[in-house]
Amino acid sequence: MRVAGHLQIKPPFVTERETVEDVIASARELYGKGLVDRIIIMTMNSRPSTLVGKLEQEGKYELPSHWSVVEIMRQLGKGLCHETRFYGFVVMDPKIKVVKGCEECDDVIMPLILDFSGSGDEYDRIMAAADSLNCPCKREWQQKMDPANQPSTTLPERIAKGLDDLGREYLGKSFQEMKEE
Ligand SMILES: [Zn+2]
Repeated sequence: MRVAGHLQIKPPFVTERETVEDVIASARELYGKGLVDRIIIMTMNSRPSTLVGKLEQEGKYELPSHWSVVEIMRQLGKGLCHETRFYGFVVMDPKIKVVKGCEECDDVIMPLILDFSGSGDEYDRIMAAADSLNCPCKREWQQKMDPANQPSTTLPERIAKGLDDLGREYLGKSFQEMKEE
């Protein structure tokens, strides 16, 4: 029997930088402790009538960048990427929004990541293509990843705030008020 671990890039309330660090640390731990034979790394998508879909509509959530996928691959290195696959960019339903780059990079990077089957040559091609680009969405991603541009709130604070907003909207009271009852 072979075991596959699944990791998700960018659940709600997590920043781009946090999710990259989290996925890398999780993958290293899973492989390092011999807990999995393979890891599937999925980028988040946005569907109507889901928490992510709702938050996205309200401007409180943004799908991750495919540059984060490249960064995760880069930091895991060829060795750990060998048994790792990166999915989530393609869905057939037009109502589902998926990770997208910009006009300059989409056709270059996306097909390479989608075709990635673990080989070192494919890995090198993705890194070379990524290094050769300096498109608007890459620069935007670099800004998001910059340590100087991180929110002053902690992740627990952001989750608590998000739950409070949802509680008020759906139940007429905040998460904190429910806890106190
Ligand atoms: Zn781009």
